[in-house]
Amino acid sequence: MLNAAVRNQTELKVIVDHELCCYCGACVAVCPPDAIFLTDSFLAIDQETCTACERCTKMCPVHALTMAEAAQ
Ligand code: SF4
Ligand code: SF4
Repeated sequence: MLNAAVRNQTELKVIVDHELCCYCGACVAVCPPDAIFLTDSFLAIDQETCTACERCTKMCPVHALTMAEAAQ
């Protein structure tokens, strides 16, 4: 039986809306496994490392991050 973290990792991923992101870094600070990579003009999620905890989506002040079903 898969634990919650592994199940989430296989079914959900974080989508970044690059039009909305202002590169403030708030999401990076709350990501437990350090799955978010940020520069002053680029943000990417390491989907292999992400555990789909949703902390970043709740923290983002401009709602640039959303959870979505990962393609199987
Ligand atoms: S919290 Fe939102 S606006 Fe800030 S860097 Fe993360 S995705 Fe971008
Ligand atoms: S969902 Fe959780 S683990 Fe995944 S990028 Fe956001 S804060 Fe990090």
